[in-house]
Amino acid sequence: MTPPIPYSHEIERFLRRHHYNQITPKAALIDMDGTLYDSMKNHTASWHRLMTEAGIKCSREEFYLYEGRTGASTINHLIQREWGREATEEEKERLYKMKTIYFNQLPPVEPMAGAREMVEVFKQVGIKRVLVTGSGQNSLLNRIATDFPDLFDEKLRVTSRDVTHGKPHPEPFIRAMQLAHVTPSQSIVVENAPLGIEAGNKAGAFTIGVTTGPIPRETMEEAGAAIVFDSMPEFAASLPTLLLSLLTISIIEP
Ligand code: CA
Repeated sequence: MTPPIPYSHEIERFLRRHHYNQITPKAALIDMDGTLYDSMKNHTASWHRLMTEAGIKCSREEFYLYEGRTGASTINHLIQREWGREATEEEKERLYKMKTIYFNQLPPVEPMAGAREMVEVFKQVGIKRVLVTGSGQNSLLNRIATDFPDLFDEKLRVTSRDVTHGKPHPEPFIRAMQLAHVTPSQSIVVENAPLGIEAGNKAGAFTIGVTTGPIPRETMEEAGAAIVFDSMPEFAASLPTLLLSLLTISIIEP
């Protein structure tokens, strides 16, 4: 008896859910905060400080759940909850500027352990890499070329400035597919947050969740992850096998 192909259960479940016959990966659409950079501690700390100072009750943990949204959308959500009205454009701009200042006052963030190895696997097998982030924070965007040398093309990048709707709306990933000239069934999304996973899955991509913070894997599965890995080094080490399995498995719809 031949042994089962690794990840065949997850891949076949995904193919059925999306009515695809096969995945032929040509582009990896990769999130930044919490995926390439270990930056979520600083984001949640600066959001919590900002909102507490503005007189808005919140917990630090809840900001992990908003991860992937644009800053303006997070500000609007909290102002609506606390004061029962929409945030003004002036508030969104002023508060996001302060959040960036607080973020930059914290110790510099480091690339996520295992992230460079993960991106290198995609490059080695000729899969394009597109950076897809809800962030517009230049302090990190400007470091990509140094921390991930020769791994990202600056033209293949979708930030908060390029979209009308942030994650969990599929628009950022659809934009990324257009930039890379690929279809949904040629796309792999790499994400660490439920809203990002929801967006990737809605865009029709094979969406991989990687646990890099306090969010449990069940939450990622509920958001639509095709498969979840428990750490970035584990994902990087498993990726060659996963890619081979993706190319091997096809199903014929009944
Ligand atoms: Ca993220």
